[in-house]
Amino acid sequence: MSDSLEQSRSVGKHFIGGEFVAAESGATFEAVNPATEEILMQVARGDEKDIAYAVAAAKSAFDAGDWSRAAPSFRRKVLFKAADLIEARSAEIIRLQTLEMGGPLGPEFPGPHPVMARSAWNLRFFAEEQEQAGGHAFNRDDTLLTYTMSDAAGVFGLITPWNAPIMLSTWKMAPCLAYGNSAVHKPSEMSPLSISILCEIFAEAGMPQGVYNAVLGYGKEAGIPLVEHKEVIGVSFTGSPGTAKDIAGRAATSLKRTSFELGGKSASIIFADADLKKAVGAAAMSIFMNSGQICVAGSRILVQRSIYDDFLEQFEKVAAAWKPGDPMSRTTRLGPLVSKAQYDRVMGYLDLARTEGRVLFGGGRPSNLEKGYFVEPTAIVDVAQDARVCQEEIFGPVATIIPFDDVDQAIEIANDSTYGLAGYIWTESQTTAHYVSHRLQTGMIWINSGFDRDLRQPFGGMKMSGLGREGGGLSREFFTETRFASFPLVPRGAATAH
Ligand code: NAD
Repeated sequence: MSDSLEQSRSVGKHFIGGEFVAAESGATFEAVNPATEEILMQVARGDEKDIAYAVAAAKSAFDAGDWSRAAPSFRRKVLFKAADLIEARSAEIIRLQTLEMGGPLGPEFPGPHPVMARSAWNLRFFAEEQEQAGGHAFNRDDTLLTYTMSDAAGVFGLITPWNAPIMLSTWKMAPCLAYGNSAVHKPSEMSPLSISILCEIFAEAGMPQGVYNAVLGYGKEAGIPLVEHKEVIGVSFTGSPGTAKDIAGRAATSLKRTSFELGGKSASIIFADADLKKAVGAAAMSIFMNSGQICVAGSRILVQRSIYDDFLEQFEKVAAAWKPGDPMSRTTRLGPLVSKAQYDRVMGYLDLARTEGRVLFGGGRPSNLEKGYFVEPTAIVDVAQDARVCQEEIFGPVATIIPFDDVDQAIEIANDSTYGLAGYIWTESQTTAHYVSHRLQTGMIWINSGFDRDLRQPFGGMKMSGLGREGGGLSREFFTETRFASFPLVPRGAATAH
């Protein structure tokens, strides 16, 4: 157990009403380093009492109006300061994240780590959006003037997963807080540490106490009471479809608004005319980065038959550079999976792959690593599209590779999925790219590229990959109450309209 973590006044504690506190019950759970299997520290284990305190703090901050009714320029100033602090403390946040969930530190960067720069951008983007966004005004027949207002709505529950803890959390907090709401955040029990730095940052940036609160703990013990709390008016959730269904059911009983960003089984479609070197590198990055624990991972690779053998040969060579190792080393690209449960799950799929298809490379635990939840980068070939390994989200560094003959067959295979999050198209033909983009049943499509975002775009998925979209004005719709006010244009005593 790390002494410095145990002695920290903030790490592993709830953040309620501006204070770092233990669970009311005194209960804790273990945060485990997935690279070493060592216990990092004991973390506050929240339950309905902690959620009740946090919601009360959030509600009272909302009603006080120091944030909810503050000038947009004030909220912008605080969020910009918080963004600067995220960048300034980038190395510290990334280190804690690597300890808790195993994502590699990556090389030294001259400025902030790119993931922290993106987290800061989330805050700056919505801080500006809320300041600049206007409403609508309508004049009906010169008799009625009516205009819209988008006001802070109340207390929101934000529930996030572990695979990119700070980036995904700021993606939700930024619009929620920027538009003047208060939040109770339930981060994942598998990444409960790094969030403490964000809490410190909000306090230092001058956000009024109680506007943002974090309760640590398990979904069943802290997540469910948050969803069910009567003062929580909406829940923005990122995680698995199974959890989303449970949240949807509970939220429905009190008619809460919900937004769901869920899992995926996204296809990288590589046509014969693609720049093969680029496509191979990007396909590998798409499934091996973060050990495949990315919602938009390109876990199904579809390759036009005429270049299939060539692709397999090059893909295996490129995959060899994704060597699993200590995520704290600056040269490691592939860290461990987040937990023993996730490791066992992925190993189960690798066993299945041997009966449903053929393992081209990888397929097990790296022989040089005795401890930690490491899995080799793996490719599965000679597998039918309806096999479970082609249909279910594995959430590990495991790709299935399937050949196709023509553009329509590629689309048919890509769409044969209960998911619809992302699609990647690799072709030099604009016509093919647009034809496929229009027919792919996914919320997001990248052509000859991947992962790069414009935050004004709608982020989210179709089918089991989500419900609702967040990003730009769509986040504003979710996180505000849009209303109108009208008044007559005909003066008292006037006979009629003009
Ligand atoms: P998960 O659904 O198990 O947990 C997500 C969060 O929900 C955690 O904080 C958890 O404690 C909480 N939770 C669990 N049960 C709950 C309940 N009944 N009520 C309220 N809260 C509950 O997901 P995970 O394993 O942490 O994350 C992996 C999943 O997230 C994958 O499916 C991945 O694709 C998806 N994901 C999606 C996106 C996206 O933007 N589309 C981004 C990242 C991850």
